[in-house]
Amino acid sequence: MTAKIISGTEIRKQILEEIAAEVKEIKEKHGVIPGLVTILVGENPASISYVTLKIKTANSLGFHEVQDSQSPDISEEDLLALIDKYNNDDSIHGILVQLPLPKHIDEKKVLNAIDPDKDVDGFHPVNVGRLMIGGDEVKFPPCTPAGIQEMIVRTGVETSGAEVVVVGRSNIVGKPIANMMLQKGPGANSTVTIVHTRTKDLAAHCKRADILIVAAGVPGLVKPEWIKPGACVIDVGVNRVGEKPSAKDPGRMVAILRGDVDFDAAKEIAGSITPVPGGVGPMTITMLMKNTLRALKMSAGIA
Ligand code: NAP
Repeated sequence: MTAKIISGTEIRKQILEEIAAEVKEIKEKHGVIPGLVTILVGENPASISYVTLKIKTANSLGFHEVQDSQSPDISEEDLLALIDKYNNDDSIHGILVQLPLPKHIDEKKVLNAIDPDKDVDGFHPVNVGRLMIGGDEVKFPPCTPAGIQEMIVRTGVETSGAEVVVVGRSNIVGKPIANMMLQKGPGANSTVTIVHTRTKDLAAHCKRADILIVAAGVPGLVKPEWIKPGACVIDVGVNRVGEKPSAKDPGRMVAILRGDVDFDAAKEIAGSITPVPGGVGPMTITMLMKNTLRALKMSAGIA
């Protein structure tokens, strides 16, 4: 039987509608709206396109959006002063610094300067600690893992008691999603295994997974025979494997993207599976918006 395709594009649409409705209601009842600043240093084309999409999404939801573009020569001291300014700006609830930063700036120092209660990316050590504790302590789950969990839950996949295997142990995907799935509570309560390049028998672990989350960045790493029949497969990998003419504008070349899972074969075995593109990708910015709304509610004491 062919797997149910978990469409990030569809789930994003639902969540953005929910956020827009909540923003409208809060504005009417409390007279406040979420404020998000996106700080972009330099002119890295990929960063510009990510920031543009974030701004567009925030505006479409009725957020107060501040786009703060800085020269690539800005000093670390000036950038830290800018963060401090937004930390103390009551109209701003979420601060996003687009990475990477130029080499002369210490990224860690900058991210750690963001007020943890405005750290909507969830990368500040305080928020990493809150995530580890779980429950009510969690303020801002990091966006990609939060998107993954949301997709699993909205697909109706049972997580309680499920064997979850996470391929990859990065700080932005592997470790946080593993931590989130093992917490006590809805959408979690799973038995979690993390595997990585030093794991002895990757295939054996994957074969046990009721929910297989793959974030390795290696195209086609997970073979179809490693997938347990009926499993939920979340492919986080985004790998550029070539170029092709754009469907809309054939004169322009666009990247051919592949995930870490052999999708065509895997969908004949899995119970549900995310495609690449159109799976996890669209969820990250969506969850950033959700975190920004949460930051407003926290600061305004709205339940
Ligand atoms: P990363 O920091 O490079 O980490 C990759 C992890 O995968 C590492 O822990 C590595 O193990 C493990 N790994 C690599 N090759 C492996 C192999 N052959 N066998 C077992 N484990 C292996 O990557 P990341 O930032 O987590 O991103 C992973 C992928 O997700 C990338 O393709 C990235 O583009 C994509 N991504 C997508 C989104 C999105 O869609 N919104 C967001 C973030 C990332 P070691 O630790 O042992 O080296």
